[in-house]
Amino acid sequence: MATTATQSSGTNAQAAQYDYEVIIVGAGVSGIYQIKRLLDLGVKATVLEANEGVGGTWYNNRYPGARFDSESYTYGYSFSQELLDEWHWKERFSPQPETLRYLNFVADKLNLKEHMQFGCRVETMIFDEDTDTWSLSLSDGRTLTSRIVITALGPLSAPTLPKIEGRDDFKGISFHPQQWPHDLTDLSGKRVAIIGTGATAIQIIPVVAGQASQLTVFQRRANWAAPLNNGPISEEEMASIRARYDEIFEACSRSPAAFEHIPDERSFYDVAPEKRREFWDRLYDESGFSIWLANFPEIFIDENANAEVSEYIADRIRQRVNDPVVAEKLIPKDHGFGIQRLPLETGYFEAYNRDNVELVDSKATPIERITENGLRTSDREFEFDVIVYATGFDAFTGAHDRIDIRGVAGQKLRDTWAEGPITYLGMLVHGMPNMVMLGGPQVAAANFPRGSEIAVDWVMPLLEHLWNKGHTRFDATSASQQQWFDAVKLSYEGLLMNKAQSWITGYNSNLEGHEYGKTRYNIFATGGVEYAKHLEHAADKDYQGIDFS
Ligand code: NAP
Repeated sequence: MATTATQSSGTNAQAAQYDYEVIIVGAGVSGIYQIKRLLDLGVKATVLEANEGVGGTWYNNRYPGARFDSESYTYGYSFSQELLDEWHWKERFSPQPETLRYLNFVADKLNLKEHMQFGCRVETMIFDEDTDTWSLSLSDGRTLTSRIVITALGPLSAPTLPKIEGRDDFKGISFHPQQWPHDLTDLSGKRVAIIGTGATAIQIIPVVAGQASQLTVFQRRANWAAPLNNGPISEEEMASIRARYDEIFEACSRSPAAFEHIPDERSFYDVAPEKRREFWDRLYDESGFSIWLANFPEIFIDENANAEVSEYIADRIRQRVNDPVVAEKLIPKDHGFGIQRLPLETGYFEAYNRDNVELVDSKATPIERITENGLRTSDREFEFDVIVYATGFDAFTGAHDRIDIRGVAGQKLRDTWAEGPITYLGMLVHGMPNMVMLGGPQVAAANFPRGSEIAVDWVMPLLEHLWNKGHTRFDATSASQQQWFDAVKLSYEGLLMNKAQSWITGYNSNLEGHEYGKTRYNIFATGGVEYAKHLEHAADKDYQGIDFS
């Protein structure tokens, strides 16, 4: 059945004179797996990618220190035994160059690049209601048409620069880390400023501290961070990982965020205070997200539990930073541990013990403007050779908003989402027929490839359903979309993260409409296990929340 449908879908593309049955936008982790599955079925499909190669976030983010916070062996694709057997992850948390090599290895091994078009950015996507096709105009001047578009744009791929006057006046080099110049691999002898202390800056700072003649970090709000505890993976260990892959992926499928770390089953209150500290001592020394995701569940919902774990982490920071005044500056006072996405670090706090590193409190003395030679705060003038704006992303909706996407009756996606995203299952948007999003808003925030595989594995039967029934159009109903929005909103209830000034709640001080307090429901906060059940339920019910015609 499936073969017949997909063979005919390939023919449809020619007979109806549209270029492709499916266009995928983005050759990152999701786009790579999606094209593989479509090609396996003989569908006429292509990937359009703005960059000159595969990799998405791992192609772009080449800043020093960029690496996974996911255990490498949980980040690889699970769908191909051949890939699992052949690839050796060299470090427990793979650095960006190795990850980019991995994604190229996958694309080459599976002969996917010949189905990808690089260096072409999609600028507009217009749905034609007469033919049920999308028309995409590209930065290289071409227009391509397809029955279906699958966006695989990445949730954190639209960088935002700070709204600070004078950015164009600076005579040195300045950039967002996502656009770190590929040839700028060493900052030895340079006077460097880093603005921001999110996960990105927390990875950059210790590396640049060891190179720059002077590093000045402008911190507006301190951020909790905990040790990554990275290390090499030997041949023997890799052999043992290979033998356990089934077990590892099974464990990920049981964890809300699709890591090996599973929340502790005990209640915070059933464990005596001194035993809690012993438990945290162990988690703090473990690698990866243990201290965050294998902790007591109460730390995310209970102010007392959260205050106690925050005090524990604060003490660990005090032990690592020599100057008590600097240590106190680095300990967040406005939010508890773990209610924002936890950055993991390697020598971050120790970087502030170096003579060439200075921490400036940008709340107390705000940056007033960028100048020709550096920047000016409310009380000082600074000179720099390099300014790094590690100031975050227009998360989840930004990459879609940057394309002019118009659906039924010319409805613009960015207008639909003006007050925040609304989707069906994080995959479809009512009024945007034949468009599927991978890694879009309102999916469960998870170890990314684990979530990607679940999403693509859901999309394929949906498309086969369309083709097998001879339909040319699918669109989420308004009612099913509203139901999903309500479920997403409900998933935030009772969580301390509601107070977070982070992309989870849609906060971004550099974007209109993203002010603190105007919550945007960007993720399905209950997590991946429940999310997968929702997807399964929708498929089992013959996609009853979706109109086919
Ligand atoms: P972010 O967490 O949004 O942090 C942005 C930082 O810039 C914050 O410290 C913010 O301060 C500051 N900032 C923004 N505008 C500013 C301004 N005008 N003046 C002064 N400071 C300003 O962004 P990010 O660090 O790029 O991280 C985003 C997400 O990417 C992470 O949460 C994570 O999910 C992902 N990421 C993952 C990895 C990994 O897997 N290893 C690595 C890096 C990033 P305020 O807090 O005061 O707004």
